[in-house]
Amino acid sequence: MSVVQPLLDLQEIDGRIRDLQKEIRDIPQRKVQELERLNGAREALVRAQAEHKHAQLRVNEADLEVKARRDKIQSLKQNQATLKTNKEFSMFNLEIAKIEGEIDSYEARQMAAMDDVIPIKRKVAEADAKLKEEQAVVDGYTAELDARLTAVREALAAAETERAESAKKVTPQFMLYYERLRTKRWPVVVSLQPDCVCNGCHLVQPPSVGQMVRRNQGIVPCQMCGRILYKI
Ligand SMILES: [Zn+2]
Repeated sequence: MSVVQPLLDLQEIDGRIRDLQKEIRDIPQRKVQELERLNGAREALVRAQAEHKHAQLRVNEADLEVKARRDKIQSLKQNQATLKTNKEFSMFNLEIAKIEGEIDSYEARQMAAMDDVIPIKRKVAEADAKLKEEQAVVDGYTAELDARLTAVREALAAAETERAESAKKVTPQFMLYYERLRTKRWPVVVSLQPDCVCNGCHLVQPPSVGQMVRRNQGIVPCQMCGRILYKI
């Protein structure tokens, strides 16, 4: 057995810890990406709502035009009663007939605008349903991610306990070397290939390094990257 076997055991746990830590870092980003998936549906709904508002505005505008003209006719008729001559009377009639013509035209416009509103309203309802549907999918997925985060945190805590136990089996001076390298090079402990190549940086080692590794008496670092070498 290699003299660095306790370090290899520790490194296996550290590998798992690294993966779990990475997952904990990645989950919030994955949640953000999920929420961004809703942007398209949300924008479609906003567009449909704006279209609806615009169409409804055209209906209301036509309605106001009609009402204004009806008021006008009413006031003309009231004034007409006070007129002295037939000529004036018939001029008012002409004016009233003209305004009634305008009312017909605005009412036709209003009807057409109301017809436009119907399909747009349907579009709003569809866009709203689509957003709700996608929201439900995203909610489900983010709930899964939250559950996964809890599980990963638990696994990490367990791995850290396991690591503390495993670290007790490592010679302190080996530990010191390993810990110093751990944040800079990963993995720290690598095999020396049969052709005397470091499995971390792939540099061919001098024969003396190969001999030392075979002797299996202590830490033998790679001449290039400093990783701890062991014989397979
Ligand atoms: Zn190396």
